[in-house]
Formats: sequence, structure tokens, C-alpha cells
Amino acid sequence: MRYAMIIDKRRCYACQGCTVACKVANATPPGTFWTKTLSIEKGKFPNAHMEYMPLICNHCDNAPCVKVCPTKASKKLADGTVQVTASECIGCQMCMEACPYGARYFNSEETPTYWSEVGKQNQYEAERMKEHVVNTVDKCTFCAPRREKGLPPACVATCAGVARIFGDLDDPESEVSKMFKKFKPKPYMPEKGTKPRVFYID
Ligand code: SF4
Ligand code: SF4
Repeated sequence: MRYAMIIDKRRCYACQGCTVACKVANATPPGTFWTKTLSIEKGKFPNAHMEYMPLICNHCDNAPCVKVCPTKASKKLADGTVQVTASECIGCQMCMEACPYGARYFNSEETPTYWSEVGKQNQYEAERMKEHVVNTVDKCTFCAPRREKGLPPACVATCAGVARIFGDLDDPESEVSKMFKKFKPKPYMPEKGTKPRVFYID
């Protein structure tokens, strides 16, 4: 089992459905985006165009965030994903410094909630915020709680352009394996040497 994601940039139109689905699934606070899609202007008039770049933790095989973690709270699992065990995290944020993709977020006591911004306590949000333990770092889990139920990550399930393909690269019959073979997708910033498990079709 080696989970991986292919993002087909030809099919992404930056609707931000993935961004919102991730926020709903993982109840991330304001300012925290475990996935998001950038809109980047390229070229000059009259040959200008927009390029859309979906970003997410790459669950790197050679993950610097795992290497620098002094408590081994950040781990590379046998299924290919990189996860953080909150109870082992001391909040030193060295992993955030080490990640070249800015994929990690610190949960501080000052981290706002959406409803706290308008001065009200929302019971649902207060409950879900417990998933983001104060003074620890967290990030995209490839939707571990959904995968435990046999569901794909929320960003994959919701993508209207069907631009995100997720699955087991060890299974030659999986869609992600077939797409990998056919399109030979490339990781983002391979020069960083982190060996990402998220690949892009340009
Ligand atoms: Fe770690 Fe960053 Fe790679 Fe995610 S993208 S595994 S946080 S180095
Ligand atoms: Fe490890 Fe937590 Fe420190 Fe990150 S903040 S390096 S996960 S102990």
C-alpha cells in the first residue's frame, strides 16, 4: 500500500471546492488551509493566461519534517502517508521550518475560530476545534478519518473537474497507477529532494 495523489492541472478551474470541502471535513480554523488552489497570472497581454495550482501536503517519501522532529511525533507510515501524533508533539515548529511547501500549521491559544471572530461561541465549532490540539502542529492527513470509513479524501470526492485522483500506487489496477503510467506526472519542486507523493499533470 502506497497512497499517492495525481492532480491533473488541465482539469482544474480553481473553483476552490477542494478548499471548502477540506475545511468542512477537517474543521480547520481561519487562516489554515490544508489544501488550497492558487490562481497565478502568466504571460503578458495579449498572450496572458491564468494558471491554477492546487497545493496540499505532499506526504513526501524523504520528508524533512519527519527528519527534524525531535520527538518522532511526525512519522512516515507504511501506507505512504506522513502523519503527526498530537500527543507526542511539543509544538517546537521545527517541522514547519523544514517543510519547503508551507504545508504545516501551528495551533496556538490565539488561533481564532470563525464564530469567535464575530464574538459568538458556536458549540459545533468549539467541539471540532478539539481536533486541532493547542500548541501542536498539524496538516493534511490525506483525510485519514474518511479513509478509515473507506471514503476518498474530501478534496478528491468533491472536485467538480475530477482533477484529483487518489489511490494506491502499489496496485497496478488502481486509477492512480494507470494515470501515472499513462501521463508520467511530475512532483512540485522536485529539486527540494523530498520525493513527494503528490504528482501533477501540466
Ligand atoms: Fe512534510 Fe511538507 Fe512534505 Fe508534507 S509537504 S510531508 S509537511 S515536507
Ligand atoms: Fe515534531 Fe511537533 Fe516539533 Fe513538529 S512541532 S517537529 S511535529 S515535535
